[in-house]
Amino acid sequence: MSHPIYNLHNHTPFSDGAYTIDELCKAHQACKPVKFDGLGITDNLFCTPSSREIQSERDFERAFARETRDYVEAVHAARRRWAGKLYVFCGCEINWPLNKNHLGIIRTYLNGIDYVLFEYVDWAGLTQLANQARRWPCPVGLAHTDVTRQFPNTSMDQVVRTMANARIFYEANAGLLPMSSHERWFTVLPNHRVLIAVGTDTHDDLGCLAQVPEIVEYIDRRGLSDKYLQPNLRSEETDGATAQATRSV
Ligand SMILES: [Zn+2]
Repeated sequence: MSHPIYNLHNHTPFSDGAYTIDELCKAHQACKPVKFDGLGITDNLFCTPSSREIQSERDFERAFARETRDYVEAVHAARRRWAGKLYVFCGCEINWPLNKNHLGIIRTYLNGIDYVLFEYVDWAGLTQLANQARRWPCPVGLAHTDVTRQFPNTSMDQVVRTMANARIFYEANAGLLPMSSHERWFTVLPNHRVLIAVGTDTHDDLGCLAQVPEIVEYIDRRGLSDKYLQPNLRSEETDGATAQATRSV
């Protein structure tokens, strides 16, 4: 494999994961079946129970400004600790149904965040996201999506075109294994410019890391080895300045 291998979907106790960033890094390093070049931390942001009651930007700030900053700082500190050994990307996961009405403000909260995974996006959501995807300061993608299930009334062709036009990436998640059950989607995918992220959605079982080679081999076999998402490491300070540049991923 000539491309870097990243596992871009891991949770820590910051949301509902069992392992700290350092423990995850060690586990990735120690994982025998695959040599990881890096990993992404993707804790759920903007999802404490209070987000249901958010009415104004002020409420939002009160609920999430501090915790988001703390999160980014913690991941960036780990990035510095692991420099030279593993890339530590700072992603996040956002629950679409819970946050679809807060997207405008969320976009302004992503300083230092390298990419966003959206979960539970339905077709109406995907079109809404596609309309504004290019306005996000970092790449946005669909987490663990079984296309047939999640968009049952939309053709795969339409789904893939929508994603390609909006540059929304697709996550090939360990939860979708065996990949052969998504054969049809992976036949459509290579014909379009949709980037792919690999992720295990690690919570409390590190055994999932060993499933990464199976996913990567499948993607490579489908001729998609030049389509892997390569997130840019965004710093908090230069955020505004790099916002435009990162769009060209
Ligand atoms: Zn997740």
